[in-house]
Amino acid sequence: MKLTGIGASEGVAVGPAFVPATGKPEPERDRITEAEVEAELQRFKEAVEAVAGNLSQTGDRLRASGSEEEAGIFDFHVEMAEDPELASAVEQRIRNLESPEAAVLAVGEEYAAEYAAMDDEYMASRADDVRDVTGQISAQLMDRGASAFEALKTPSVVLAHSLAPSDTARIQKGMALGFVTAEGSRTSHVSIMARSMGIPAVVGVGLALEDILAAKTVAVEGREGYAIADPDADTVAQFERMSGALAEERAALEEYRHVEASTSEGRRIEVAANIGSPSEAEGALHWGAEGVGLFRTEFLFMERDDLPSEDEQYEAYSAVANVFGEKPIIVRTLDVGGDKDLPGVDQADEENPFLGWRGIRMSLDTPELFEPQLRAILRAAADGKLKIMFPMVADVGELEAAKARLHKCRRELESEGVKIGEVETGVMIETPAAAICAGLLAEESAFFSIGTNDLVQYTLAADRGNERLRRLQNADHPAVMALIQRTCEAASSAGIPVGVCGEAAGEPEMIPKLVELGVTELSMAAPQIPRAKKVVSEQ
Ligand code: PEP
Ligand code: MG
Repeated sequence: MKLTGIGASEGVAVGPAFVPATGKPEPERDRITEAEVEAELQRFKEAVEAVAGNLSQTGDRLRASGSEEEAGIFDFHVEMAEDPELASAVEQRIRNLESPEAAVLAVGEEYAAEYAAMDDEYMASRADDVRDVTGQISAQLMDRGASAFEALKTPSVVLAHSLAPSDTARIQKGMALGFVTAEGSRTSHVSIMARSMGIPAVVGVGLALEDILAAKTVAVEGREGYAIADPDADTVAQFERMSGALAEERAALEEYRHVEASTSEGRRIEVAANIGSPSEAEGALHWGAEGVGLFRTEFLFMERDDLPSEDEQYEAYSAVANVFGEKPIIVRTLDVGGDKDLPGVDQADEENPFLGWRGIRMSLDTPELFEPQLRAILRAAADGKLKIMFPMVADVGELEAAKARLHKCRRELESEGVKIGEVETGVMIETPAAAICAGLLAEESAFFSIGTNDLVQYTLAADRGNERLRRLQNADHPAVMALIQRTCEAASSAGIPVGVCGEAAGEPEMIPKLVELGVTELSMAAPQIPRAKKVVSEQ
């Protein structure tokens, strides 16, 4: 069986299927004490609300995009999650000192057995729905969402409805051979992660994913964007040939790895890497990175359950500085919110997370997160050429407030006698407001870097993770190009460099257009660097 979707990260892989969400959750505890009953009843209620809320959001989104029938499935799941009889059966068990996670699974099994025994085929098939919903409530109670990924111990192709950055961040190195997801686009974070990891990804295959969840083996082709469940021997042989051809293609680009790329007119374009952790630094150098154009520091925070201390962050930034030596590293301050949750921080649910408490907005409101990070970067700047970049800036006031906070941290470190280095500060241009006010921001910035992923999403009002909006997830749109041009002109007038660190920077068809508009640096997933240098050199 073949599924087609969006080719989000090129490469091919064949491997065992890993489906994180379908494993039957095992309760962490079977019993509770009398004293815990009230608190556990409350936790159960909150878990039901959270699961029903997520399900109804998915239903609303499907309905809004015209998928009435699929939305109906989610409505049914919401009803099931909120079913008063189910709740009272679970509550009764909790009062009998059963843990809520065990109780909800047990009641789910009872209901499922009743449905399965029905003659009507439609009703019988509802058994899986009950298990699914009660399993989600149980997982919610155990805060288990992410741990399934940590448990992945055999290199596998991961099949999932969607993959949050905190999911992919928890997968151990080498354990994911490829990703196939129902949701997502080329600029959703799962795609970005796949490209950095150099593994194939097919996203946005839709609900058809369900048809292959039982597959033992899956073959993924991430350029065209398709996946084949339980491929036969001929298909496996064909994938081996494709893999060989790709390796040849990559070998032919080898000679560009360490080229300093210039256009035929002699314009030098720096080509740098986007990284998410110190472990990617060596690999980035290997691919020919002339620096780090974007260090997404939030991944340091997401691959664990608690927050990294200032010292731990210092170690991480300093480790990258030591690998890159004199080469510049643009460290982006925490950009959580949107689709990136932070374990260990209480983020209230938001109606519109991508338009919500994200990036610099959250950092400015949370000095206990922001200041240790700024201090750690200032300290690590003594070990290399670190620059600080603020994400999601919408106006000069935010930039000034962030710089004031940096100044405060610098003064404090100086008075403590701690060794620090010089850092330039720059702004990520990823809101239309920032692009429109680029002239004002340039007066206060040492550099710009254009985040086309968000700039596209906010300019075209098109959710970057929604597989149905593919046509609009494209930086090569006149409105986006006009904002990029405006940003480049503002940078040029102020005499500051302007990079692109969104996914468009690594796309061969976009590179000449960005360079033409005046971009001076391109930053991308490291494996894309040699090809980008070739495209620039041939321009
Ligand atoms: C962007 O928005 O283009 C960007 C590079 O940031 P992120 O993808 O991490 O939001
Ligand atoms: Mg962004």
